[in-house]
Amino acid sequence: MNYKTALQHPIFSKISEATASLQLDAYAIGGFVRDFILERGDAKDIDVVAIGSGIELAKKVALLLPNKPKVKIFKTYGTAMLRYQDIEIEFVGARKESYNENSRNPVVENGTLEDDQNRRDFTINAMAISLNQESYGNLLDPFNGFDDLRNKIIKTPLNPDITYSDDPLRMLRAIRFATQLNFTIEDESLVSISKNHHRINIITNERIVTELHKIMESEQPSKGFLLLEKTGLLKHILPELIALKGIEEIEGQRHKDNFYHTLEVVDNICKHTDNLWLRWAALLHDIGKAPTKKFHKKIGWTFHGHEFEGSKMVYKLFKRLKMPLNDKMKYVQKLVFMSSRPIALADDVTDSAVRRLVFDAGDSVDDLMTLCEADITTKNPKKFKKYHHNFQLVREKIEEVEARDHIRNFQPPISGEDIMTTFNLSPSREIGIIKERIKEAVLEGEIPNQYEAAYEMMLVEGEKLGLKVAAKS
Ligand code: ATP
Repeated sequence: MNYKTALQHPIFSKISEATASLQLDAYAIGGFVRDFILERGDAKDIDVVAIGSGIELAKKVALLLPNKPKVKIFKTYGTAMLRYQDIEIEFVGARKESYNENSRNPVVENGTLEDDQNRRDFTINAMAISLNQESYGNLLDPFNGFDDLRNKIIKTPLNPDITYSDDPLRMLRAIRFATQLNFTIEDESLVSISKNHHRINIITNERIVTELHKIMESEQPSKGFLLLEKTGLLKHILPELIALKGIEEIEGQRHKDNFYHTLEVVDNICKHTDNLWLRWAALLHDIGKAPTKKFHKKIGWTFHGHEFEGSKMVYKLFKRLKMPLNDKMKYVQKLVFMSSRPIALADDVTDSAVRRLVFDAGDSVDDLMTLCEADITTKNPKKFKKYHHNFQLVREKIEEVEARDHIRNFQPPISGEDIMTTFNLSPSREIGIIKERIKEAVLEGEIPNQYEAAYEMMLVEGEKLGLKVAAKS
């Protein structure tokens, strides 16, 4: 098969020219070839393997390009990278790899194209297109990756037990590709992953999180999480989710399986948002339910305080997985913490409750509503309709209250400075008390969110505290 059509970018003819002048062979390989055949859009990254020095090839190519781009060299890996127009091209010498038990870093030697294809993770990632002048555009596909692409199969080029044990990251990559591309992992591979799952523990958290993010960015992340669970990987990575699994029954009372419920919520939310962190909030919104679960004879199963517990667990989980402990983490924590608030509102939508919700959620209030809507997984069509309708009312009320009272990013209508000047105070406890009282009155709807009304209230509250208005100078 000839794939000259994949090589339309001007960079390829330059690489070809360089291979001729250096008298070495080179191929476009891996994800670029796979994504071209899958028609996944224009490539941003291209991997080129040289039978010889990738660094020398990169340098030669750079010289042939009109703008002579800089070549970035990674000596330890023997690779080189350059940017041309809108793409990044990475050059690597063909490698033969051998592994030992305790590391995913192999011993590397120079190799042939075949050696290099053997070390690739999946047949669909091992295809190469020749950039050599006499065979330009030919597809080299020793493991029938093309057929696996067509049949939507994830399969390793060599014995899966060796492939996964050598580099356990590949287990996660298999599941990630299956989720991203909606492919099936062939049985032999699945058995092998299930056998080798514990080896994931030699992989750094950063690498694990990169794959988890890609699963979360897919259209239907549940597919990946079900595979992670089935193969035994999930308990090493996110035991908090495993703890949600199962239904307990005492005296005929059952609770729902919060693991499968969570996955449904994640799939639901993915239809409405591409925000990765909102998707994470959906994944983690119920994790506090495992440690807070209790059975009471009279009322059945409860999960009191699971939102607070869950938000504390978010911090620990992010820390363990070396995810950022910054505003993203705080955002996920906040959504988990507030995840039941709109539900409590849906029965009785009062203005003051909506103002409090907007005050507490701030700019995240719309995301919180999206999360709560995704959380509706009831199979009872009447209830489904009713809950969605109620949340629609809450959304309308939020708009209405917001337009009138500007509670989002609330700024007190009276500042501490105003209070100090009025009563001739130095910084003191009374200022906090008055400010809090005014804020409460605004949220309760006792006064509008305006300066005059707040000023009046300040005078009244000041008097209650025994303060005297300072004489005007
Ligand atoms: P994506 O860009 O979606 O992550 P990709 O296949 O381009 O997909 P990269 O991580 O850039 O992913 O890897 C490029 C190529 O390198 C892959 O197509 C595959 O051939 C090979 N590869 C990457 N990681 C591994 C691995 N752990 N084991 C074996 N081969 C790998």
